Amino acid sequence: MRDFTERHGQAPCLVAVLAGDDPASHAYVASKAKAAGRVGMRSETFELPADVPAAEYLALIETLNARADVHGILPQLPLPPQIVAEAVFERLNPEKDVDGLTPVNAGRLSLGRPGLVPCTPLGVLALIDSAGVSPAGRDAVVVGRSNIVGKPVALLLLAAHATVTICHSRTVDLAAHTRGADILVAAVGRPHLIRAEMVKPGAVVIDVGLTRVDGKIAGDVDFDAVREVAGAITPMPGGTGPMTIAMVLENTLAAARRQLEPAGA
Ligand code: NAP
Repeated sequence: MRDFTERHGQAPCLVAVLAGDDPASHAYVASKAKAAGRVGMRSETFELPADVPAAEYLALIETLNARADVHGILPQLPLPPQIVAEAVFERLNPEKDVDGLTPVNAGRLSLGRPGLVPCTPLGVLALIDSAGVSPAGRDAVVVGRSNIVGKPVALLLLAAHATVTICHSRTVDLAAHTRGADILVAAVGRPHLIRAEMVKPGAVVIDVGLTRVDGKIAGDVDFDAVREVAGAITPMPGGTGPMTIAMVLENTLAAARRQLEPAGA
């Protein structure tokens, strides 16, 4: 980071766009801004009312696309109902799309080309790596197939040469799949969906799911029981959340480099 700032006379800059009053979204954006400050990155947050017209929201995205001093743009999800997420992703400059939301970056990921990859999936792969496990040749099961978590996690595991199964709400016998997994990633949003008897002994278990139950955060994995079976496991909270924030910073630095240090320049 310091090298970049010295070379270009400016720090990378991340801008979050927050529409509405969702307390969790406000907390996420605040922790991203705080983390950016800690590593010497600039950040700005645009807070818009829940009833902001879609045209106004999209106009702000266009303004940020055009600002040379802004390197990363993060439209905080979920969006209010009048703003169609796909319209925002279509409009966002792919070079500033630090959460890999645009069709261009999704296409690059699926084709194995360099681009900006969604932050939570990047964090999942970093956590698997930190457990000392190489996905190559392993059986990996991803529970959840959303565009922002499940699918990109599966594509990253595939690129790392795992044999990947994707499960979802229509999967008939979930346990039959999860029990064969050397690497199990749960990204559903159903508290304690993954129980100990569904996990292969020694497996790496990564919990992405996050649900608030009676004011507390619950993961998709029954942590206390599954930790007795798993070889490595992430807690919820305290596992994938902090890694997501770290990857937002990594992606913002990568985006700034792509903008200011184009290949061959
Ligand atoms: P999503 O869009 O709601 O997707 C959930 C996925 O789970 C869908 O693919 C759904 O299947 C599948 N599913 C639902 N019930 C199931 C069941 N009983 N068995 C198997 N699969 C089932 O959610 P998301 O955006 O991917 O997020 C997933 C979870 O991760 C949420 O709890 C979210 O809050 C959390 N999250 C955490 C972080 C973090 O940093 N830790 C970041 C992002 C999201 P269908 O496709 O068939 O509907």
